Amino acid sequence: MNPEVSIVIPVYNEEESLPDLFRRLFPVVESLGRDCEVILVNDGSRDRSLVLLLEAARNKPYVRVVDFNGNFGQHMAIMAGFSKARGDKIITMDADLQNPPEEIPRILEQMDLGHDMVGTYRVMRKDPVFTRKLPSKLINWITNRITGLNIRDYGCMLRGYHRRVVDLINMCRETTTFLPALGKKFAQNPVEIPVSHEERHKGTSKYGLYRLIRLNFDLMTGFSMVPLQGVTITGLFVSAASLLFALFLIVRRLLVGSEAEGMFTLMAINFFLMGILLFGVGIAGEYVGRIYMEVRQRPRYLIKMTYPDDQEAGEKP
Ligand code: UDP
Ligand code: MG
Repeated sequence: MNPEVSIVIPVYNEEESLPDLFRRLFPVVESLGRDCEVILVNDGSRDRSLVLLLEAARNKPYVRVVDFNGNFGQHMAIMAGFSKARGDKIITMDADLQNPPEEIPRILEQMDLGHDMVGTYRVMRKDPVFTRKLPSKLINWITNRITGLNIRDYGCMLRGYHRRVVDLINMCRETTTFLPALGKKFAQNPVEIPVSHEERHKGTSKYGLYRLIRLNFDLMTGFSMVPLQGVTITGLFVSAASLLFALFLIVRRLLVGSEAEGMFTLMAINFFLMGILLFGVGIAGEYVGRIYMEVRQRPRYLIKMTYPDDQEAGEKP
């Protein structure tokens, strides 16, 4: 029989956090009084994570492990977990205990009330202010403006998805994606609740600035055409302004005569326009690159083995 709840956790080099995670997660799971499974997806960890995961799977009958053949990223790891999950209510969370497992019952409560997607936002977020909190506030705001999704906290992965939403997500074949956004798109009755947040006690964040920026590009390009349209509109605006400027120069030449100065003004204007041009090419390129990745139709992730049921290799087409 299928369990009622599936908890999906991506794991990438988390050997330091895993013992604490298990110590706190398993009692919560066992006290839920619901039939549960925990799906741990090893996203190509190079440390002892896999050993710890398999050990957990041996000790607890409700733990299943999916082992990737390399690092495919947090969202692909969750995708793989989704495709394996059998529960009616599916919960995602991080392995580093920044999302307390003790909040799981509150998410299930909301799902019992009929919400098919339970989002969360972090209160008293314990991350560095200048490198994480402020930029993330700004990015949440910009992203909401651009995508129109209205998610309060894009960074918090502790979320609950109903079977219907996960089935729809499983139908999406995109290689770069952002799961909470996808879930929100498909949800009929979403809700957001505050959850507490902890520092990362062990190990280090897997997202440096560069990866964070890439992830945000995935989000923007995956859920909006606004950046492209922004380039077009900027182009229109700049052309109009240049036309006016040219007209002004013609009139000035007729009335005052040709101008000899202004060489550096011209350069400044030129550099500005070149900047806009590069930016526009870059934005178009972001979309083109993603189209290229999609059309190649390579497998999004490769599964080396699943435990306990080690039967399949690779993603089913
Ligand atoms: N993670 C993953 N693959 C990756 C990067 C991260 O599976 O390529 C997992 C990681 O193990 C953790 C979660 O995704 O469980 C969130 O990662 P992290 O805590 O590093 O992100 P942050 O909280 O700093 O945004
Ligand atoms: Mg974290």
